[in-house]
Amino acid sequence: MVELFEKFRLLQSEMRLEVVEDVSSPESSLSHSISDANAPSFCSADFPISTATLPNGKKIPLLKSLLTSACERNCHYCPFRTGRDFRRITFKPDELAKAIVDLTAKGIIQGAFLSSGIAGGGLRTQDRLLTTAEILRKKYHYQGYLHLKIMPGAEYDQVIAAMQLADRVSINLEGPNTQRLQALAPQKIFFDELLEPLRWIERIRQTLPPWQGWKSRWPSSTTQFVVGAVGESDLELLSVTAWLYQKVRLGRAYFSGFSPTPDTPFEDRPACSPWREHRLYQASFLLRDYGFDVEDLPFNREGNLPLETDPKLAWAQTHLIHMPVEINRAEIKELLRVPGIGPKTAQAIVSSRRNHRINNEEDLKRLGVPINRAAPFLLVNGRRLQHQLRLW
Ligand code: SF4
Repeated sequence: MVELFEKFRLLQSEMRLEVVEDVSSPESSLSHSISDANAPSFCSADFPISTATLPNGKKIPLLKSLLTSACERNCHYCPFRTGRDFRRITFKPDELAKAIVDLTAKGIIQGAFLSSGIAGGGLRTQDRLLTTAEILRKKYHYQGYLHLKIMPGAEYDQVIAAMQLADRVSINLEGPNTQRLQALAPQKIFFDELLEPLRWIERIRQTLPPWQGWKSRWPSSTTQFVVGAVGESDLELLSVTAWLYQKVRLGRAYFSGFSPTPDTPFEDRPACSPWREHRLYQASFLLRDYGFDVEDLPFNREGNLPLETDPKLAWAQTHLIHMPVEINRAEIKELLRVPGIGPKTAQAIVSSRRNHRINNEEDLKRLGVPINRAAPFLLVNGRRLQHQLRLW
């Protein structure tokens, strides 16, 4: 166990760029948007475990591990890139699977995220990841949460196999387009290696019956971008994100703010501001859950979001301040444009209106509307709220 601990500890210290399963919303503060899973913490048993929030909102302790930190590729930002001098760690598939099962049995983890450096090509690396997952599910009958990474170069049948074993699968696009990817990771191929497998995942979900093995539905998919290393704009990142939400039903885009690693080609480049990450998350939720289009977002001339203002508030300040939303008549899509009102609150307002009119601040508070944020953009029975008058 001591040797295992040391292996996980060494891996974890370099896996900070890999973000998995967290929750944020346009209504959340900065501290909530920085992924719990991005900041390794140590559990009571002293194993390097991250806390992750699953798509259903449940928080679980998650082991984030690579099958190997050896890699033959040369991504400019990555601590695992070939030729970098540090101690590489490799697990045998059964060794890693057994460690996950043991940690689960001890109550230390409830899930695992498995990725790998590329050693011997993407296809062979994917096979080893699949073998690990198969051992977990078939030999050890592991029922816990499993997120599997799809390797660049994996084949269609391997993607199906991964989807049959995992609760979530992901492929990191890294950059928003070919040009940016080339600057980040010269050996990765944007369309063939990264975008196409994301399309396969959606095609599989659309055309094959749901897998009936470990659970009754196909897994969700995510991707990740490295932000701030090669001059890409927020507009570039959010345009491809919007496309992914619409065309391949991506579950979630992650934005991993670049932070320089010594002894890499990008070691002298500045780190990305956490505020940029935060605004990108807020904007991506507006695209996914709030009915916003990319054109609605308040980009500046360089195609970046303002760091100092919440993008939803910025939109409302230019569009709603002179045309506030009437709370008793507005449709859900209009309510979702009001700062402070998210999908659950909008639904609660519409449900409540079937039985009663909303007449005052107390009614709004009962429905979960944060008065301070929403009042300037609302009318109640045709009148502005007293609260709002005090604000102005
Ligand atoms: S493929 Fe690139 S990003 Fe992935 S481990 Fe290797 S060097 Fe790092």
